Amino acid sequence: MLEIIGNLHLHTTSSDGTGSHDEVAAAAARAGLDFIVYTDHNIAIEGMEDWYSLSANGHKILRLMGQEINDQQLVPELNHLLCHFVSEDFQPVAANPQALIDAVHARGGVTFLAHPLERPGIGAARETYPWLSWEVSGFTGIEIWNAMTDVKWQLRTKPRAIIGAYLPNLVLTGPFPEVLAKWDQLLATGQKVVAIGNSDAHAMSFSLGPLRRTIYPYEYLFRAVNTHLLLDAPLAHEVNRARQQIFETLRLGHCFVSYDLLASSQGFSFTASSGAAEAIMGDTLPLEEVATFHVASPQPARLRLLHNGRVVAETKERELTLRTRERGVYRVEAYRRFWGWQRGWVFTNPIYVS
Ligand SMILES: [Zn+2]
Ligand SMILES: [Zn+2]
Repeated sequence: MLEIIGNLHLHTTSSDGTGSHDEVAAAAARAGLDFIVYTDHNIAIEGMEDWYSLSANGHKILRLMGQEINDQQLVPELNHLLCHFVSEDFQPVAANPQALIDAVHARGGVTFLAHPLERPGIGAARETYPWLSWEVSGFTGIEIWNAMTDVKWQLRTKPRAIIGAYLPNLVLTGPFPEVLAKWDQLLATGQKVVAIGNSDAHAMSFSLGPLRRTIYPYEYLFRAVNTHLLLDAPLAHEVNRARQQIFETLRLGHCFVSYDLLASSQGFSFTASSGAAEAIMGDTLPLEEVATFHVASPQPARLRLLHNGRVVAETKERELTLRTRERGVYRVEAYRRFWGWQRGWVFTNPIYVS
C-alpha cells in the first residue's frame, strides 16, 4: 500500500478562515502533507484544483475542492456536512440534510458529518454545532476527531485559554469518548461508517485582555490531526485521476486518523485474514472459521483492539495479534504519552467480519 497524508477540513478567506488558498496550501506543504481539501462554508468554488508547489523546496501538494454545508437559516447553525469533490451550489437543498447527502453523492462526492458532537468553549466559542439529524442515511462517514473542536473544549476557561494559546502541545487530547461511542453505535447497525480526522483550521486570532494571538495557525494544525490514506497505486499526476483515487480510498475507508505531532504513524498497519481472504482497514472479511488480526505500529504505543466497541486485546508492544471466531466490527486505537499525559494517537477504520 502507498500511504499519503492529508487534511479534509479547513477554511480560507473564502469563508471564515484567515489565510488565502495559496497561503493555506503553502502551510500544508511546509507541514509535509500530500493533499488538502478546501471546505469553506456554503460556497462552491471552481478552478482551484491543482498541484501546488512550494517555492522554497519544490514540495508538491495536491489541492482539491470540497465544501462544508449547513442550513444557514437555522439558529444555531447545526448539522455541518463536509461535501468533498463537488463544486456545484447545493444551497437549494442545504436545509434538508438527507436531500443534501443524496445530491452530493449523485454528483460524485463523498459526505462526512463534521464535528458530530461538540462541547462548549469560552466566550464566542460557547456555541456548539453538533449534528442533530441522526435519521439520515447513506453518508460516507463521520469526522471522529476535529482538532479545533477539541481545542475549543480544552480552552474552556480563561486560565486554560491562556496556557493553551502559548503551549499548544498541551492541548489536543483525542476524539471525545461520546463521538467514538456514537461511531460504534452507528457501526452496530450494520452500515459502513468511514472515520476521518481533520484540523478544521481557521487560524483566527483572539484577544484576552492585552493579549492578542493567532491561535492554532494552519501549519501547526497540519502537523497535528490528519487522515492517512492507503492507496493501492501512487497518486496520479493528472488531477482528475488523483482526485478519483482519493475519492475511492475514502469511500472504501482505507484510511486512519492520526495525531501526527506525537510521533510519525507512517506505516501503521491493521490487517486481517481468514482462509484465503485478506483485509485491510475499511474492508469486509468473510469469516472461514477463524480470523486472524494483526496490528503493527511503527512506534511504541498502547494498542487496543476493539470488537463491537469493546476492548478485546491490549498491549504496550508494537505488535498485537488476535485469533477469533466472532463476526462483527473490529477497529484499533493507539495511545501515546506526550508532554506528560496520554493522548489519542491513531484510530483506524474498522475491518468488518461478516
Ligand atoms: Zn463546522
Ligand atoms: Zn469547518
